[in-house]
Amino acid sequence: LLSPSGDPQPTIFAQMSALANATGAINLGQGFPDTDGPDEVKDLVKRAIDDGRNQYPPATGVPALREAIAEHQGRRYGLALDPATQVIVSAGATEAIAAAVIALVEPGDEVITFEPYYDSYPAVIAMASGVHVAVPLTLRPARADEPGTDGALRFAIDFAALERAATARSRVLLLNSPHNPTGMVLTPDELMRLADFAARHDLLVITDEVYEHLVFGAAKHLPIASLPGMFERTLTVSSAGKTMSFTGWKVGWVTGPADLVGAVQTVRQFTTFAGGAPFQPAIAWGLGRDEFPAALAASLEHRRDVLSAGLQEAGFSVIEPDGTYFIVADGAPLGFADGDELARSLPALAGVAAIPVSALCRPGDSDGPFRSLLRFTFVKDETTIDEAVNRLIAAR
Ligand code: PMP
Ligand code: GLN
Repeated sequence: LLSPSGDPQPTIFAQMSALANATGAINLGQGFPDTDGPDEVKDLVKRAIDDGRNQYPPATGVPALREAIAEHQGRRYGLALDPATQVIVSAGATEAIAAAVIALVEPGDEVITFEPYYDSYPAVIAMASGVHVAVPLTLRPARADEPGTDGALRFAIDFAALERAATARSRVLLLNSPHNPTGMVLTPDELMRLADFAARHDLLVITDEVYEHLVFGAAKHLPIASLPGMFERTLTVSSAGKTMSFTGWKVGWVTGPADLVGAVQTVRQFTTFAGGAPFQPAIAWGLGRDEFPAALAASLEHRRDVLSAGLQEAGFSVIEPDGTYFIVADGAPLGFADGDELARSLPALAGVAAIPVSALCRPGDSDGPFRSLLRFTFVKDETTIDEAVNRLIAAR
């Protein structure tokens, strides 16, 4: 239950961070920024603590934050939410996803995700006694207007495989865009096809949009809940961790129709009940200001380009992301067919840590198309990225 392989191991992110710490490697594995979010937001937390906001907040979140989340969804995406019944605050996106899956999935129900997938999805589907159906993403040639060299590949949805995956037991489509680990951002056309798929098979949708602000170039984030007919069947999850660079505060939220949100709250009241009292008013203030995530996205786009060029110089082929903290690189051109083996030896070989993409795929799929891929994060200071690239080039 606790790991894709069934062994009670720490997550791949914890394993690789421990390996980086033990070897002194530069940690481009676990995705967390090395620069904190805005000082104003930190100051508001300190003030909230001094003002005595230290006891249980309301179980669904403080009104100011629920209102700020509703306002954010309205301002950016035209979604009109009632902060009293259609918004709840959670202990990060992780709790929101877990509570949503446990709330909506009955034993034996099938939950469709794409593969690779975020590691918490199969674990919480198993906790709900659901059945995880993973549909591998496919690779397509890059278009002329997309970054990358000739012959570059991009991740995309295989709609024929998705259609084949639907059964009478399909219950939930669990989406993630911008997508961890690939950095793929679903286009309006792909989202419309997914909405059509969900409607035809009468699926509920849980959509993990934690990287909603972190998109690059011409890519735009569009919540599937904003498409015609989709609001009523969709729970949308996001988090202050990525939007505001406070991953350790673990404040997230879930929005949607009152009946689905209420079902999530029924679960949540027994997972954490409430949390994050002094953080919530500060995040409410920060969510009203798009300057911080806009500047973060612009600087991440530059750091993506630096890491992408460096990885290619070091001999990897890269699959360019349109969003998130992450870039996927293929070790096969360097002669490494097994990404898991490479990720576990790279800290000693080169002094750099990364995440094997196979850890975010079904166990046992050892000949799968993602076997030689590694995920590197670029949410690090540019000098750190440069140093990591220099080490990889030197070890080549
Ligand atoms: N979903 C995805 C796709 C993520 O990458 C992460 C964390 N990086 C989470 C959920 C968890 O978010 P949180 O830290 O807010 O629980
Ligand atoms: N979401 C982060 C990542 O993908 C890791 C969070 C965690 O360690 N659970 O790197």
